[in-house]
Amino acid sequence: MSARRTFEVIAFDGDDTLWHNERGYRESRDRFRAILADADIALDDAALEAAINDVEMRNLAFYGYGVPSFVLSLIEAAIGLSDGGITGRHIDEIIELARRMITADVELFPGVLPTVRALSREYPLMLITKGDLLHQRSKLSRSGLERHFRFVEVVSHKTPEVYEAILVRHGIEPSRFLMVGNSMRSDVLPVVEVGGWAVHVPAALTWSHEHAHPSDAARHRFFERASLEGLAPFVRALAMRLKRTHVKVRGKRTPKTIPRRVSRRPIGRRRSP
Ligand SMILES: [Mg+2]
Repeated sequence: MSARRTFEVIAFDGDDTLWHNERGYRESRDRFRAILADADIALDDAALEAAINDVEMRNLAFYGYGVPSFVLSLIEAAIGLSDGGITGRHIDEIIELARRMITADVELFPGVLPTVRALSREYPLMLITKGDLLHQRSKLSRSGLERHFRFVEVVSHKTPEVYEAILVRHGIEPSRFLMVGNSMRSDVLPVVEVGGWAVHVPAALTWSHEHAHPSDAARHRFFERASLEGLAPFVRALAMRLKRTHVKVRGKRTPKTIPRRVSRRPIGRRRSP
């Protein structure tokens, strides 16, 4: 890796950072509600959300993230809510939701393509996404972005240990690693914890599971952007500024060593027009 670059690698999350994802899950939940109504099980939004989330959370440790896992949880929820009375036809309709989600068009967020294209000319890019391997690879290949990513990591979980293992495997210094993603819990906090930098780009729709509250110390190590538009000049400015401040960063000691101006002064446009 180049010794001159402030960032050796810039990594992106996929779902709800580069392309729409949660929207498909919401649509499937709506269809699931219609399937249940057809099976004479009527639930309001809150009760349905609670029932699905409950099963999903329980199943994450067994099936991980992704559409197959989600649909297994819907089937389990339907069986539970119908007290075992759900019919094969209704289960078949639920399974159809999985096929629909897996083959759905990949729709990029505004500004993604020019941003990824521009940054890929300056930095090796890495996609770090969690979920089903086949589905994630298929989305990347259908997104039109694949050629801009030098590395692709599909992982089961995004914990500090997982990020650390990726950095070690690729020989990347944590303080020279920047992660861009929509999830505070998966893309920002674990990266900050291992000594990296992050850009948080909140999505309009994010699964409630992905929300988290950063500590004051963590806030020194990530930046908020409204969208990926303008991210390339923002990263350029950030890299210059970090270079100038000679920030030496390692793990949890870093926040104290970083001058306030690094984290407090806005860089470039904070919001897209
Ligand atoms: Mg995401």
